[in-house]
Amino acid sequence: MTIGIVAVQGAFIEHEKMLDNLGISYIELRQKNDLFHPIDGLILPGGESTVQGKLLAELDMFSLLKEKIDTGLPVLATCAGMILLAESLSNDTHKYFQTMPITVKRNAYGRQLGSFHTKSDFQGLGSIPMTFIRAPYIESASPSVDIVASVEGKAVAARYKKQIALSFHPELDGDTRIYELFLGLIQTQSVTN
Ligand code: GLN
Repeated sequence: MTIGIVAVQGAFIEHEKMLDNLGISYIELRQKNDLFHPIDGLILPGGESTVQGKLLAELDMFSLLKEKIDTGLPVLATCAGMILLAESLSNDTHKYFQTMPITVKRNAYGRQLGSFHTKSDFQGLGSIPMTFIRAPYIESASPSVDIVASVEGKAVAARYKKQIALSFHPELDGDTRIYELFLGLIQTQSVTN
């Protein structure tokens, strides 16, 4: 199994460390040619969604990545990655992959609560440590989306088809359960396909 990690900007190295700990191989997706390497799953890291969106377009990676997600490649998206998956943003006119029918608010916690750490229940996994850094949250979601974690009434994690979107950064907390969930999605995929 090989995971492709989008590595044009942001916190991709932390995801690589988590996969190293789990003994899972990965490749960095830095340029268009990297997208022709077969991958079983995709990680969209945190960072700055506007910069990532711009670079993916300039590097001519955007359409190929969107096509892969549209056709069922399992995705784990954290923070800026969630913004890239969202069908719409409530406080920004940008649109990116739009593969998950959710409306997301960018930098939703304002300045004072820009970064914080908490623990909250994640459906099926129990209590998970969650680090938020200028994080988005999900303002609304289509009924076909499963909201799998909330913090103080705000939806911070969602599953839709083979996509997992998180407001927080599991790569920073050393807890492998979300990665195992993602790897499980990939394994189910290869059995059913
Ligand atoms: N605030 C960033 C954005 O809007 C997301 C922050 C993050 O990925 N840690 O893209």
